[in-house]
Amino acid sequence: MVFCTDCAQQQEDSQKFCRFCGERLPGATLIQQLRDEAANIKAQKTGQITQTQQANLATLKAIELARQQSPNGQS
Ligand SMILES: [Zn+2]
Repeated sequence: MVFCTDCAQQQEDSQKFCRFCGERLPGATLIQQLRDEAANIKAQKTGQITQTQQANLATLKAIELARQQSPNGQS
């Protein structure tokens, strides 16, 4: 089952366009995104992450560190 990104109505998996509002359904795009994410996760596990991913991880670590050092525990 998929849901229209525009009107949130439930759609058949095989449908390419929403039968309620005509919005193009994200089926193929979503699957591609999931495949990309899976590939990224696999790459991380094998230690082969991209510079962008390294930067993102560094940013996340910095945020975590800042939260831990915050006197109130919240910003
Ligand atoms: Zn729709």
